[in-house]
Amino acid sequence: MSQKNFRRQRRHEADGFTCIHCKLHVPGQAWGTKHRNHCPVCLYSRHVDERPGDRASPCRSPMEPIAIEAKPDGEWAIVHRCTGCGEIKVNRIAGDDSERALLSLALRPISRPAFPLDDAR
Ligand SMILES: [Zn+2]
Ligand SMILES: [Zn+2]
Repeated sequence: MSQKNFRRQRRHEADGFTCIHCKLHVPGQAWGTKHRNHCPVCLYSRHVDERPGDRASPCRSPMEPIAIEAKPDGEWAIVHRCTGCGEIKVNRIAGDDSERALLSLALRPISRPAFPLDDAR
């Protein structure tokens, strides 16, 4: 990316944010998404948008990643649930999201089955 491009986008985008969950400082830019809204390490988000990028929500509560959605085109998205108001949002993953965190989120129900797998015959 050229320096000129970088500056233009910086003005355009928020300067990043501090993760509400793990306190990581998250830069505003990420490969693969225009509106970075979650932490690449713990995947937590924050309820600040009514629509992606508008920062119009008064809620401001942490949004917990609760599931992975696999879209028909193979892309993954993170399902977030607001710990304040309970709103559910689906967010595209970013290019630098932790693959380990994404996988462990995807495998969470498998690792904690709600019924005994031995009796599945
Ligand atoms: Zn975090
Ligand atoms: Zn909320």
